[in-house]
Amino acid sequence: MNILSIIENKRDKKELSKDEIDYFIKEYTNGNIPDYQASALIMAMYLNGLSKEETFYLTDAMAKSGDVLDLTDISDIIVDKHSTGGVGDKITIILMPIVASIGVNVAKMSGRGLGFTGGTADKLEAIPNYNVDINIEEFKQNVKDVGISLITTNANLAPADKKIYALRDTIGCVSSIPLIASSVMSKKIASGANKIVMDITCGNGAFMKDIEDASKLAELMIQIGKNANKEVRCIITNMNEPIGYAVGNQLEIIEAIESLKGNMPEDVKQIVYCLGEHILIMAGKAKNKEEADNLITESIQSGKAINKFKELVIRQGGDVSYIKDTSKFHEAKYVIPVIANSEGYVEKIETEEIGKVSSFIGAGRMQKEDIIDLKAGIVIKKKIGDMISNGEVIAYIHTDKEDKIEEATKRVKDAFIITTSKVETENTIIKTIL
Ligand code: URA
Repeated sequence: MNILSIIENKRDKKELSKDEIDYFIKEYTNGNIPDYQASALIMAMYLNGLSKEETFYLTDAMAKSGDVLDLTDISDIIVDKHSTGGVGDKITIILMPIVASIGVNVAKMSGRGLGFTGGTADKLEAIPNYNVDINIEEFKQNVKDVGISLITTNANLAPADKKIYALRDTIGCVSSIPLIASSVMSKKIASGANKIVMDITCGNGAFMKDIEDASKLAELMIQIGKNANKEVRCIITNMNEPIGYAVGNQLEIIEAIESLKGNMPEDVKQIVYCLGEHILIMAGKAKNKEEADNLITESIQSGKAINKFKELVIRQGGDVSYIKDTSKFHEAKYVIPVIANSEGYVEKIETEEIGKVSSFIGAGRMQKEDIIDLKAGIVIKKKIGDMISNGEVIAYIHTDKEDKIEEATKRVKDAFIITTSKVETENTIIKTIL
């Protein structure tokens, strides 16, 4: 077998065999296939698509390209949650301590931000001294002792996906349904979960721009799950505006802490409850939606949710005094209001642009190696349907970079499309696919 013939087959729209896909994944992971040939093959896959079988083979090969965690010594039921990413997505940080406080074991690995999307691992690092980089033994021990551990993806977990995802990012090949499905599911399979809840974000701040594509992605991931003996449930959520109000690592952590204390923005609440219902039912902690909702409400109102988060932070070495008192977080040097110069209602928010501006002012990385400013970001003050008066603040820009303020202010202002007629708000939860 050789890589050139595999590239030629895919170029000519032939279906690749399991052996061909296994060969590519093994040899690329080992460094025996150069990036230019891997790029050509990935581009051919992107352009010509992958059959269901090819997608299953690709997922399986990537999942097995490194360690496959066995968490059955923690529990028979390991539930994981994954989001396909977006802007202002701090749901994991709120949801997982809640379900852990209700007795669901949470062993969760999350990625870092790249491009316009943020990553949970970066957000957690905004808590001084919080260590996202612990080894697997410690990770498992934390789950056994406090019921939850949130860390970054382990170096040897689906290493093929890590290489291929980074490559796709540089050759314009991220937004392909089979490539996203195999990338996400390979990591979920390797991380030892047997029940997985997927938040498939959909809209102008997500990889999936329309509901048809998001539904196809959901169905494909459910199929891959079935093949791998994992139960997968998907919800499609609206990403036509940032989730909540805060975008940027420290700003999102503060919003997550406030949410755990009971002050949740409405859209955050809907996503947390919807995903929480599925997790609690899959984990056998609730019989139905109503029972699950009651458990979630009780966890938040009684303080169990925030206390579980504090336990997690202490366990991972973080300074818990910041959780008790969020005013301890140091703000960025400049906090600049963005002022509306017209009046009306917010019709549309260019969400990807908000994510890009947030990166531009320091919150995100353009290259994997970039150092980010955890304090930087944007707090929007208006959501779709809100009324705006002339001269009102629509957002605040938080940055240390004085030279970026003028451009960032203009771009954030332009990202808000304002109309004079009243605007219907959109549903946060678009669809559930089981
Ligand atoms: N998230 C992933 O993990 N992989 C993708 O391909 C896209 C989003």
